[in-house]
Amino acid sequence: MIFDTHAHYDDEAFDEDREQLLASFKENGIDAFTNVAASLSSCKTTLELARNHDFMYAALGVHPSESAELSDEGLKDIETWCTERQDGKVRAIGEIGLDYYWEEPDHETQKKWFHRQLNLARELKLPVIIHSRDAAKDTLDIMKEEHSGEIGGVIHCFSYGKEMAAEYLKMGFYLGIGGVLTFKNAKKLLEVAEMAPLDRLVLETDCPYLAPVPNRGKRNSSLNLPYVAEKLAEFGAEMIFHEVYDDDASKITDGCRRAMEAGADLVFCTGGMSVDPDDKTPLAIKNTGARIVSYGAPVLPGAMFLLAYAENGTPIVGLPGCVMYSERTIFDLVLPRLIADDEVTAEELAGLGEGGLCLNCKVCTFPNCGFGKGR
Ligand SMILES: [Zn+2]
Ligand SMILES: [Zn+2]
Repeated sequence: MIFDTHAHYDDEAFDEDREQLLASFKENGIDAFTNVAASLSSCKTTLELARNHDFMYAALGVHPSESAELSDEGLKDIETWCTERQDGKVRAIGEIGLDYYWEEPDHETQKKWFHRQLNLARELKLPVIIHSRDAAKDTLDIMKEEHSGEIGGVIHCFSYGKEMAAEYLKMGFYLGIGGVLTFKNAKKLLEVAEMAPLDRLVLETDCPYLAPVPNRGKRNSSLNLPYVAEKLAEFGAEMIFHEVYDDDASKITDGCRRAMEAGADLVFCTGGMSVDPDDKTPLAIKNTGARIVSYGAPVLPGAMFLLAYAENGTPIVGLPGCVMYSERTIFDLVLPRLIADDEVTAEELAGLGEGGLCLNCKVCTFPNCGFGKGR
C-alpha cells in the first residue's frame, strides 16, 4: 500500500494527461493520495478534483509564498469549504508555514497567516501540513507558541537536521520524506531517516516537483514513490535470527556465527553483560574471532557495553540489560551509526565521557548522565 501524502495534481504540469495518469495509479500500486492546496484558487481546484476520485483526499490552505492574497474573508472561505463538505474528503489544513527562501511576501505577512491558519486547524480539529523553508527557528517558535502538539500533522518535505527533527517528533508530528532522500547530497536527510522512528516518517512526492533519482529533474508523480520507499526501507530493521541460551560461552559463540551465516547485518547479545566477572558473553564474543573495539563505556547506563567487529565487518554488540529499559544510553548513541555502516572507533566511544564509570567526569557529552556534569 502506497499513500502519497503530498501531491499537487491540480498543477498545470498535469493539464495534458491528468486523468490518464490518475487512472493508472491502481495498477501501479499507488493506492491513494492527498492533494495539497497552495492558494485560494487551488483550494477550489483541489476540491473539484476530489469530487471525481475516490482515492484522493484534500488539504486546504494557503502556502506562505501566496499568503499575501489572504484576508479575513479568504480565511472564512477556507473554513466554509472545510465544513460544508460532508464526504470526508477534506483531511487537513495545508500547506501552511513559512518560506524565507523567497523574499515575498515579507516575514510579518507570512507569520500572521501561519498563526491564523494554525488556529483555523485547531478550531476545525484538522491536522496541519507544514511547509518550512529556510525558516527553521521562526517555524518552530510559532508552532510552540500555538501548542501545535495539540493540533498534530506533518512537516512536509522535511529539510532540516536531526535536532530540528527531534523537536517535531517530540511534538508528535510526522516528517514527510520525498525524492530528496534519493539525491546524492541528501546526507542531512539520511541522518534524519536514521534517527527517526520509521512509523513517524510518511512518504510524499510534492509532485510535480522533486522527482527522485533516477528521474530527478523530470516531472514528478506518485508513480515515482516506490523509489523513495525503497530507499527508506534501508532504514528498517528485520529480525532474522533469535535464539536464547544459558550463559554458556560456546553456545553463544556458535549462535553469533550462525546469525551471521543467516545474513544478519548486526548481532546483539543481550544477556551476560553485567559487572559480574563470571558472565560469559564477553568471552563468547571474543571467541568468534571478532575484533573487540571497546569493552566498557565511560557512561551510565550501559557501562558494560561491548562493541566488536567480526572478520566480515559485521558489528557484534554485547548489551547489558540496563540499555533495554533505559531510554537513552550509549546504545542509542551508537546504534544509528551501526545501522548506517559507519564504523565506530574506540576513541569515539571514549570521547563520550571521561572518568571510568562516570562518577567524576570532567567532560561528558552523554545526554542524560545522572552522575556526571553532563546533566
Ligand atoms: Zn511545500
Ligand atoms: Zn507542496
